Amino acid sequence: MSIAEKKNVTELVSQDLDGLIELQKKSFRAEGEVTYATRVDRLKRLKALIVENKTAFATTTKREFNGARSYEFSLFSEYASKVEAIDYSVKHLKQWMKPERRKTNKPMNFLGGKGQVRYFPKGVVGIISPWNLPFGLTVAPLTSALAAGNRALLKPSEYVPETAELFAEIVPQYFPEDEVAVVTGGVEISQKFAELPFDHLLFTGSTGVGAQVMRSASKNLVPVTLELGGKSPVVIGRSAKLDLAGTRLTFGKLLNGGQLCLSPDYALVPEELEEQLVARIIHEAESMYPNITENEDYAGVFDERHFMRLQNYIDDAVAKGATLTIVGADKSRASADNRRMPLHILQNVNENMQVMHEEIFGPVLPIMTYGDFTQVPDKIEPRRNPLALYYFGKDRSEQEYLLNHVQSGGVCINDITLHYVQEDLPFGGIGASGMGAYHGPEGFRGMSHARAIYSQTMIDVLPIIGARPPFGEKFRKKISKILGPI
Ligand code: NAD
Repeated sequence: MSIAEKKNVTELVSQDLDGLIELQKKSFRAEGEVTYATRVDRLKRLKALIVENKTAFATTTKREFNGARSYEFSLFSEYASKVEAIDYSVKHLKQWMKPERRKTNKPMNFLGGKGQVRYFPKGVVGIISPWNLPFGLTVAPLTSALAAGNRALLKPSEYVPETAELFAEIVPQYFPEDEVAVVTGGVEISQKFAELPFDHLLFTGSTGVGAQVMRSASKNLVPVTLELGGKSPVVIGRSAKLDLAGTRLTFGKLLNGGQLCLSPDYALVPEELEEQLVARIIHEAESMYPNITENEDYAGVFDERHFMRLQNYIDDAVAKGATLTIVGADKSRASADNRRMPLHILQNVNENMQVMHEEIFGPVLPIMTYGDFTQVPDKIEPRRNPLALYYFGKDRSEQEYLLNHVQSGGVCINDITLHYVQEDLPFGGIGASGMGAYHGPEGFRGMSHARAIYSQTMIDVLPIIGARPPFGEKFRKKISKILGPI
């Protein structure tokens, strides 16, 4: 057994995962009703945790990105937007928690039968998060879990061990262990974690690991929300304002060095507009990031493994005939310690290239072209079920055509990634990009149990329609009204 493996096993024993979940389940059962006031109090403590510790987390994340991570990007994407999400949840929680009246069937409706749906907490929610937004993607699902009245166990990524340790140190200052607790450790711990008998498990990460997590959760029939990745296309229509599309596409592609689940993966552009679009992208990339290797606003590729992966995609594409443009004066990274990779644009790409099938997750942008707009869905199909579909243009019929012919988790028209920060919109994938959704009301509902409650008066209904034995002509007449002659 290697030292790392021994360390993991030791951590596993000392953290006693079974004990932790049992503790939370016991407290959940003992608590009974999770009131509005309790939920708001928990959300406010989570907000305080963010506001009071943002600097410690942001500097830790920057260090774990080898120094190459924009502090301002972190402040917005991982902290400010999460505080806004909490405020939004607090504002709407009372409304979400209200029982919903539902209609009842004839004749029960005439005889006092009443239906309602009430949202109850599920119990204990497990949250597994990735390294790319290590704080935000742990805290955002926790917001939905707490709003819905649950307790939670968090498992941050082993690729950001300092962030995970910081969570383990700071969370107990705001939450007792039976409310929210943190589990740290390597992939073996994550595997054990995914096998725990949670009442719901929310996983954010890659499609391949998502499938493993679902398998683990199935052992206890734990319902899952899977927030996965994919190849999100940017479709440029002929009615697009090309300059604007180029600006927004470039901004979106280079956010966090392309390491976002919603990063635009590749672009599809009308043949005759390709060179104009490429020129705009180059112009924008150079204006936003006049230099790369020392630029504090520009995120580096997270680690050597990912750097080599991206380099392999580029080499493979070039060997198979792609045209490569490296944007800016810095044509390569400055040193082995600085993984800030400039934007690499690939043209003349084809289906034999790895870069057209693997999620890129880095500053590499393949450009595909199309002639007639009806070709677009077939061009996307080999990379089906993306997390996001981006369309630039004013043509309503093109928009509808795409919506009806291409499936995707979400859609953003004339912008990139901004649908993610609209708190009233659900966020989630479809098929290979995930299942279930969170944020806003869908996050609340996804982590709640929508319980059907039907209540009947003391009137004995069934004999009125002859539906209790001995069955007779009255009942047969009633049934034949529904089924025809019997
Ligand atoms: P990853 O799938 O490698 O790891 C994610 C997490 O899974 C880590 O915390 C890890 O500890 C855990 N894990 C690994 N193996 C496991 C197993 N067998 N059982 C249980 N847990 C296990 O992903 P990553 O490299 O950290 O993140 C990048 C990926 O995440 C990309 O594909 C990206 O698109 C996706 N992502 C999706 C979203 C979203 O909201 N949809 C957001 C960010 C990232």
